[in-house]
Formats: sequence, structure tokens, C-alpha cells
Amino acid sequence: MKFGEAFREYLHGDQEKFLDKCSHVEYKRLKKVLKRCRRSSLGSQEVCRDSLEEQEEDRDQENRLFECVVCDQMFFSELMKEVSDIAGCFNTKARRLLHLHVAKGMQGYVLWFRQCFRDDKLAMAEEGRMLMEYVTMNAIAIRKILKKYDKVHSSVNGNVFKSKMRAEHIELLQSPWLIELGALFLNINGVDGGRFSEFCGNFSCDLDASEPVMRLTLPNSVTIDYSLTCAICLDTVFNPYALSCGHLFCKSCACSAAFVPIFLGLKEATPDSKCSICREAGVYQNAVHMMELDLLLKQRCKENWKERMVAERALIVKQTKEYWDMQTKYAIGY
Ligand SMILES: [Zn+2]
Ligand SMILES: [Zn+2]
Ligand SMILES: [Zn+2]
Repeated sequence: MKFGEAFREYLHGDQEKFLDKCSHVEYKRLKKVLKRCRRSSLGSQEVCRDSLEEQEEDRDQENRLFECVVCDQMFFSELMKEVSDIAGCFNTKARRLLHLHVAKGMQGYVLWFRQCFRDDKLAMAEEGRMLMEYVTMNAIAIRKILKKYDKVHSSVNGNVFKSKMRAEHIELLQSPWLIELGALFLNINGVDGGRFSEFCGNFSCDLDASEPVMRLTLPNSVTIDYSLTCAICLDTVFNPYALSCGHLFCKSCACSAAFVPIFLGLKEATPDSKCSICREAGVYQNAVHMMELDLLLKQRCKENWKERMVAERALIVKQTKEYWDMQTKYAIGY
């Protein structure tokens, strides 16, 4: 089945009610825009030709963007708005769904899960599945439409747009909430002895590999690996946080990079503190605490997790003492 058809079927499938309040990519309409452009450029040879010639000349000057008078007014501004809406909708809904149970801590979580009615669990897993389908289908639609744009115009604008999405932190498949959702599925399945395996079919993880990863398989069989290695300590992330740029670190590592004691937390980082990987500033204040991922690692790498917890606690005690010693020194002046 062609993707266009699959996407249309998806939009009018069982989840219509769920999609009611969510934006989605206007795949069909954007495709029509491109089709019209191709026809007009073939017919009159006027509309896109000038810009194409210009592009030939400028091939070396990468900074100069190709422009298409027919498509560009609508195409990228509309797509950008759709993508931000979809990212906003997905992040809000995923946050709400995930917040339901991680607040209880692991023991409460397992208990709650065992007592919880099967129907409730099913409803939750079902909503998670719909959210995941929502984000993956739209992400594929975006990739396809951008590729088409570049093919029609033989441009690189589509690719440039992709980096723009990354810079604006709205690239759908890089949302930390997607990793959290994946961890939720793997956790549910772990607690419930595999009864929910149909839901986590798209997610798997390999935590024993030298580079531990969570893997997402998209409906078009493309796989995406999310590295679970902390770029600072080079170990598997522990008590992980995702900064606004999307990079994952252990809480203790992120705190040390931002020069704040662990017990004060990442919110206390100054706005000019930068991510250790991409050097972007201002990414600490809205960092996402990856609690489902932490539960997953706690359950599946028990020994390592315990060791790391003991080390983190010792560090917190040490830092707290140093911090108060400093405060006292300031207060009494020696
Ligand atoms: Zn065009
Ligand atoms: Zn680390
Ligand atoms: Zn970063």
C-alpha cells in the first residue's frame, strides 16, 4: 500500500475520535501543491525555471536557499505550524498519560499495576498505542513530503527544513516523551508477564550491548536507535534527564556540567549553562525527568542501577555538606 493511502486510512480509522482534537500533517493538500508546481513548471517553463537556473549558479554557495514562487508561500510556513502543533499535542498528551503512574514510585507502581483492573490497563496501553501511532504516522508523512519537495525542485530545502525542526526542538521522533512512552510499554510488559506485548511490538531495548539502546521500529520498517549512554560519564544513563535540546544525561552528570549541586536540581542552572553535546544554552530549566526510563533500567539492570544509586547518594551527601559549609562561611565571614 502506498503511504498516502495508509495515511488516509489512518486518519479515518478507529482513532478518529482521538484525533479529533489533534492537528495532523495535511499530507494530501501539500502533495497537491507540489503536483501543481510540477505541472506548471513543465507546461510554461516559467515558474520554477528562473529559480532553478539561479540554483545551478549558486550550487557552491550553500547558504543561498532555492526559492519556488509557487510552493514556498504556503508550503514551509504551513508545515512548520502543523509540526509545532503536532509536537505540542503529543508532548502534552504523553506527559499526562505518563504522569499517571510514575508519581507512585516503583513499588507503588507495581502494586497499582497488579490491582488495577484489566480494562484500565488496556485503556492506558491503548491510549499509549494511539499516541505512538499519531506521532510516527505524522513523522513519516513529514519525511515523505519533504523528500518530494526536494525531488520536484531538485533542491535541498527539505533537508534544511529538517535541521530547522531539530533546532526548534519539534522533530517528532526525537521527543523525549517518545522514549518515555517506549519505556512505559516495556515496563508494562515486564510487570504483566508479556500480556501486553502487542503494544510494545514497536519498541525494544538492548541494555547489555556495549552501547545500550532503545529501538523504535516505524510502520515503514525504518528503525531508530536512541542511545542510552551518557556522554559525560560514558556509562548507561542513571536517573536520566532529557535537556530541551533532546540530549540525555544522568542527573548527576547534567548537574555537574551546569555547576549546580544535585540536591538543588537542574532548575537552578543559570540560563547560560550549555549542553555538553550540542553547546546550546538555556536547555536546563525545562529538562524532562525520564522516570519511565529510570524504572526500566532499575528493573532490567538491577546490579548496575543499585551501584549507581549508592554512588549518587554519597555524592549528594558530600555536596550538601560542602554547600552548607560554604553558606556558613559566608554567613559568619571566615
Ligand atoms: Zn514549486
Ligand atoms: Zn552520566
Ligand atoms: Zn544538547
